[in-house]
Amino acid sequence: MSKIDYEKIGFKAGLEIHQQLNTGKLFCSCPGVLRSDRALFEVKRKLHLVKGESGEVDVAAKYQHMEDKEFIYEAYDTTCLVELDEEPPHEINKDALFVALQISELLHCKIIPITQVMRKTVIDGSNTSGFQRSLMYARDGYIETSLGKVRIDSLYLEEDSARPIERNEKFTRYRLDRLGIPLVEITTKPDLKNAAHVKEAALIIGDILRSCNVRRGIGTIRQDLNISIKGANRVEIKGFQDPKIMEETVNLEISRQQMYLELKDLKFKENKTVDVTNIISPKLDWMKKQIDSGAKFIAFKLNGFNGKLGKVDGKPYWLGKEIAGLCKTRGFGGIIHSDEDLEKYKFDNDEIEKLKEVLDMKKDDAFLMLLGKKEKIESLLRELVFLFLSKLKFGNPSEVRNCLVDGTTEFSRPMPGSARMYPETDLELLHIHRDLINEVKKNLPKLRSELEEDLKKQALREDQIKILVNDLDLFKLYSSLHRDYNNSMLIANMLIDYPKDFSSRYNMDLEKIYSILNEDVLAFILEKVNSKEVEVVDVKGILEKIVKGEDLENAVKVEKLDLGEIEGFVVKLLKEKPGLRPNAYMGLVMKEFGGKVQPSEVMGIITKLI
Ligand SMILES: [Zn+2]
Repeated sequence: MSKIDYEKIGFKAGLEIHQQLNTGKLFCSCPGVLRSDRALFEVKRKLHLVKGESGEVDVAAKYQHMEDKEFIYEAYDTTCLVELDEEPPHEINKDALFVALQISELLHCKIIPITQVMRKTVIDGSNTSGFQRSLMYARDGYIETSLGKVRIDSLYLEEDSARPIERNEKFTRYRLDRLGIPLVEITTKPDLKNAAHVKEAALIIGDILRSCNVRRGIGTIRQDLNISIKGANRVEIKGFQDPKIMEETVNLEISRQQMYLELKDLKFKENKTVDVTNIISPKLDWMKKQIDSGAKFIAFKLNGFNGKLGKVDGKPYWLGKEIAGLCKTRGFGGIIHSDEDLEKYKFDNDEIEKLKEVLDMKKDDAFLMLLGKKEKIESLLRELVFLFLSKLKFGNPSEVRNCLVDGTTEFSRPMPGSARMYPETDLELLHIHRDLINEVKKNLPKLRSELEEDLKKQALREDQIKILVNDLDLFKLYSSLHRDYNNSMLIANMLIDYPKDFSSRYNMDLEKIYSILNEDVLAFILEKVNSKEVEVVDVKGILEKIVKGEDLENAVKVEKLDLGEIEGFVVKLLKEKPGLRPNAYMGLVMKEFGGKVQPSEVMGIITKLI
């Protein structure tokens, strides 16, 4: 991709990050645990559309209401009547509020002293109540980046939604385990200056979040990006998580919006649709099958669209693909257009010529042809495709798109409007007192960058530091042992290097090894090292014996070999296998006596005798 002049194209981008907090649920006393076992019972519901404060049903609501679906909710012994919307919300979870306030402080935000929990309309069924509770509790902060401050617009404390487990045309099945887990939503101002800057800001905010008590692992942080260039409309990219493809995704989206800018002059005229099933005969099996079950080829002319629908070399997006993506959201796959290589469908030239004649196509015109049930195609065209084409003159649609693994995105839904918030009447105003804020200020966690500095001073290796700052539990264990025994390098080896080595050598789960080599075991051995009953060089061998099942007391009794015994063994080796390199002899000796003797001593003996 050629170099992009972000300033010149009027690049504008801001992040919206949702992070789950590692506490109980926000408005009830249930724990925030995800379940993979069978539900205790399920509840079926249908949702009714609620109007927002302004009295308008917003675009997204209208769109999703077209599918009249049933929702099934799976309940557990870790969910209660609040998640089922059969009991009013309890008072806000104090632990969650505390973590949320820590995040606010680290992002230099101003905390709002008196605030109202709001209801945000949700129509996809992912909230049993039809709304999500959301509380704006801080605003106007910033983070420092290499290109200056990026302003934080606002912080919200929200309930997470129920987890979709299964979707089909008739119903969506949700699991209630996730519903109500506290989320902090961080929204930046559109201050991000280029693709690399987007990534940098996302990583900085991620680091700040991970220094607090937040949930870790897949799905616990969700990052969305709002992005536009001059003349184009704002697009929200969801699921923008993987740092490896962030820059790519940004640059691809720029190129997609540029494509739409180039299409702005196209004038869409709605021509009538024609059933061309009598002209076009299906050649491929999937087509034949559909025609046999009553499907039709329906085509229409697009005046002036010749050459505008097809793939352009080096461009990741093209209009035909965008239209196909739109239709795919209704489960519709059979889309054919005149800029495609029609040979892949095995149509005869005569058929295509006849089709063009029937549609009265001129040189500059294109056609779009869909294969499917006639009524389905007609409603698809009226509700989606014609609407989409008629708005091309305004540039790209303002929409929500999903990020895919290759860095491209696909249409998800139209951009939701703003008519979505109204006050939660079941909850009192929330007062955040100065006492609490001061308590938070006194209890701020160290940032990862600060932790890294500390660990560097303790002479740990880069890779060890990385592992420790990314694993809060391991870090706590390290800190606790380091405080008591102060042997940083040995402790890091005992916590990181040795278990990793045992894991690959004995094909054992790291989890399992950590459960054997727990804090008590490690402290016991470090105690012996401090009292000189165990030598540092023997620690690995001792841990290995414990992992292999030996009890602690026996494992620390290291039998020290008489060096004479090793000398005898080396003499024997030299006779049996003459002419090997010293390292090869070394390997054989260590295999025999490993853990009981120091390698340097063995090497001394070998070089003496060789
Ligand atoms: Zn509950």
